[in-house]
Amino acid sequence: MMHTLKFRRTFVTAILLVLTTLSGQAQDNSDQLYAIFPKGQKAPAANFTGTAWVSQLIQADSAFNIPVGNVTFEPGARTHWHSHPGGQALLAISGIGYYQEKGKPIRILRKGDAVKCPPDTPHWHGASPEVGFIQVAVTPNTPQGRVTWLEAVTDQEYGNLKK
Ligand code: MN
Repeated sequence: MMHTLKFRRTFVTAILLVLTTLSGQAQDNSDQLYAIFPKGQKAPAANFTGTAWVSQLIQADSAFNIPVGNVTFEPGARTHWHSHPGGQALLAISGIGYYQEKGKPIRILRKGDAVKCPPDTPHWHGASPEVGFIQVAVTPNTPQGRVTWLEAVTDQEYGNLKK
């Protein structure tokens, strides 16, 4: 009888510990993103605002000319405006992301969202101000290149989320 009671107490304590840990993770919004792929190296500051990390998952070659990369944006981080001659697919992995094509409202991206960005369409992507974001980017190489970088996304543009 005593043995069962002790077991129950241990069990309840274990459950409480798990719940406490999970709620702690939900509240910590920067480094507790649920990553699948390696974080990689810091993204070049010339084309990003804030801190982002890039890891090349698939290297392109002459037979398969579509590089695939994982990008981790810390809260507030985003790309500069840019376009892709061959377009781009974005797959949201974790956190809360922003995506905006020129002249359109900012779109919020969450885990499981998939975006097709048409060729030669100026746009930017990044994290929300409070929560980081992880995405996989599939970006075909073309004779015109892979990406054409434009100007930085201003704080005013970044803050212009229609609620
Ligand atoms: Mn892009």
